[in-house]
Amino acid sequence: MSRVYNFSAGPAVLPEEVLQEAADEMLDYRGTGMSVMEMSHRSKAYEEIITGAEADLRELMGIPDNYKVLFLQGGASQQFAMIPMNLMKNRTADYIITGQWAKKAAQEAEKYGKVNRIASSEDQTYSYIPDCSDLPVSEDADYVYICENNTIYGTKYHELPNTKGKLLVADVSSCFLSEPVDVTKYGIVYGGVQKNIGPAGVVIVIIREDLITEDVLPGTPTMLTYKTHADAKSLYNTPPAYGIYICGKVFQWLKKMGGLEVMKERNEKKAKLLYDFLDQSRLFKGTVVPKDRSLMNVPFVTGDADLDARFVKEAKAAGLENLKGHRTVGGMRASIYNAMPYEGVEALVAFMKKFEEENL
Ligand SMILES: *Cc1c(COP(=O)(O)O)cnc(C)c1O
Repeated sequence: MSRVYNFSAGPAVLPEEVLQEAADEMLDYRGTGMSVMEMSHRSKAYEEIITGAEADLRELMGIPDNYKVLFLQGGASQQFAMIPMNLMKNRTADYIITGQWAKKAAQEAEKYGKVNRIASSEDQTYSYIPDCSDLPVSEDADYVYICENNTIYGTKYHELPNTKGKLLVADVSSCFLSEPVDVTKYGIVYGGVQKNIGPAGVVIVIIREDLITEDVLPGTPTMLTYKTHADAKSLYNTPPAYGIYICGKVFQWLKKMGGLEVMKERNEKKAKLLYDFLDQSRLFKGTVVPKDRSLMNVPFVTGDADLDARFVKEAKAAGLENLKGHRTVGGMRASIYNAMPYEGVEALVAFMKKFEEENL
């Protein structure tokens, strides 16, 4: 067996311990004589898996009792519609556009009501987070929407926007569990798990209880109503059962590592190694305004597309995989999620140094 350092933006690297444990339990989950994949989602064994996963997530994030945790399907993209369908009572919402994902979410919401784009960083290819301290928040906005960590462009809100009392809804797909978070600041905080937690197909929605109502837009499907899933404790229909099981194992791993404070320190240390190198490099250059840099996704370029392509190719041959930037931006991107070890970033920086020496 040989594993590479996988810098993919998602689906992405998972903790090796978790994969090993899942492998050990593959044929016979703890004496049940079957795989979790083969198990009824109504069984006692599965109930323990899903309730345990929720309890561990609540503990890790300090989720207050007046928030529900929902394990849903359809990825983060399904939420782009589900959020307006459930929250747009006035048929108006404010969106801050910091990249493709926020842009897509706004476009989807537009099918259901009026969308005000109250700030954007599109003018500079989304390389920064706009000043959100005094935005023209709409009087009748049902919520203010952000994408908190911009996976493609490598920016992160280090301070949440001033929503002037309006509900904040955040897509945290690519920074989920990377650092401590104050859940009480959000109405909804949600993310697809394939970036930092588990296998694609699961989306976790943490939603304040008073937002879960039957008063949704006319025509909202049962499956797209938060209340359906909240009432059934995420077991209204067959959930993405195996995916939730892996998420649960990652929550256990995070607890064992020391929780989100410790993850934040580790992530800061990893990111610093790479950013410090980029800041002094004569060949490579980070593309994000330093104060808005993400701890999770680090885009960089040489300024020469052919050289970028050669870098990605040679890095791959050296066991450093998936460093190609998003197809819409080019260059390179290293995603250094929770499960990427410090040694992986060290290996990347060493390779970049060598490549720089050979190509200057
Ligand atoms: C990957 C990603 C998405 C899309 O996730 P899907 O599960 O593929 O729908 C949405 N938002 C962010 C921030 C992402 O990184």
